[in-house]
Amino acid sequence: MVEDRVLDEIDRAADEIVQLTVDLVRIPTVNPPGEEYQACASFLGERLARDGFDVEYIVASGRPEHTAAHPRVNVVGTRPGAASGPVVHLNGHIDVVPAGDGWTVDPFAGVVRDGRIFGRGVCDMKAGIAAAVFAAEGLRRAGVALPGAIEISGTVDEESGGFAGVAWLCQTGRISRGRTDYVIIPEPLNVDRICVGHRGVYWSELTMRGRVAHGSMPFLGVSAIDGMTNVLAAIRSELQPALQSRVTAMPVVPAGARHATINVNAIEGGQPIGGIQTPCVADRCRAIFDRRFLIEEGFAVAKAELDALIRRVAGAAGGLECELRDLMVVEPVQTPPESPVIGALDEAIRRVVGTTPTLIASPGTYDHKHVARIAGVPHCVAYGPGELELAHQPDEYCRVEDLVKATKVIALATLGLMRER
Ligand SMILES: [Zn+2]
Repeated sequence: MVEDRVLDEIDRAADEIVQLTVDLVRIPTVNPPGEEYQACASFLGERLARDGFDVEYIVASGRPEHTAAHPRVNVVGTRPGAASGPVVHLNGHIDVVPAGDGWTVDPFAGVVRDGRIFGRGVCDMKAGIAAAVFAAEGLRRAGVALPGAIEISGTVDEESGGFAGVAWLCQTGRISRGRTDYVIIPEPLNVDRICVGHRGVYWSELTMRGRVAHGSMPFLGVSAIDGMTNVLAAIRSELQPALQSRVTAMPVVPAGARHATINVNAIEGGQPIGGIQTPCVADRCRAIFDRRFLIEEGFAVAKAELDALIRRVAGAAGGLECELRDLMVVEPVQTPPESPVIGALDEAIRRVVGTTPTLIASPGTYDHKHVARIAGVPHCVAYGPGELELAHQPDEYCRVEDLVKATKVIALATLGLMRER
């Protein structure tokens, strides 16, 4: 059986897969600000070229975050198929979040101990990139002549929205409906789970303006801080219970994130604390909200509801002006349940891991949104090695066993998708 040959090749390559992960971790692609992207893209590009890929470097030259100090360089490798079969695109982000405190090992040394690889970005998601590379390499070493092309991309800035990364590839047509059939993103979601999308995100900034007056006679002014306090109280007493009562049918994990939610990210008002204080009524207060909306709610409803609450509360106080500005909107996405990419991964997980896979949706967002919304490619999921809960934590690690299993699953799923038509 061709599948057995592929699995054997991947088992034989286990040390190489670990080494590739370690090599990637040792390039500290910390975002922000976006360090070492060029070095990491080149390293991955050279690796792909050795494995028979045609390699392109795609620079997000039109984006404001692309600078001489921190260039936004993406790499895409294509290994053509024997015929014009389906194109399977494996995408991983090369950026990692800053290490932060609390580490017991060097976060960029790539320490391998007790069957685990430690380091910042190991599970999120350099192990996933290594799995993608060796899924393709396992198929090649097993002598499989695939009818369609495999593409592997390493992209920037997923942790900060992915606008110079996957979104850029989608906007420039490198990933597009006519060209790309299936996309698998090996984010760390556990080896027996397939992630089929995420909720929507609406970030907004509320500015309230009142009227300044002497602090000894506050009744002569209108306090923007008081106005904001009333808005926050209404969010707590009215909006949050309403959101808590709404539940999505999407399988979001953890289950608490199956509800609509709102978080106050920031608040700032009146005079700067730490500066010299004068007796003044605060004439300005700002807050930033992070509203996660359900696919069943939609963005228009989420925005209108918040807007109406603010206007009602501010209007009741009198003398307050308020302005709600959109900072970021991410539409929810969901892979169609009948998508072949779900079916192919499901079958591969049953065979390699030996369990019944669970379909999940992410509590946050990831690059799926760009693939679905900009490129219009519906057949996209996230599946990869590592545990979701370890992402962004100190002593982040990925089990070698999971890394090898995920590599096998991605290889067999790719093979399955090539045979689907
Ligand atoms: Zn990630």
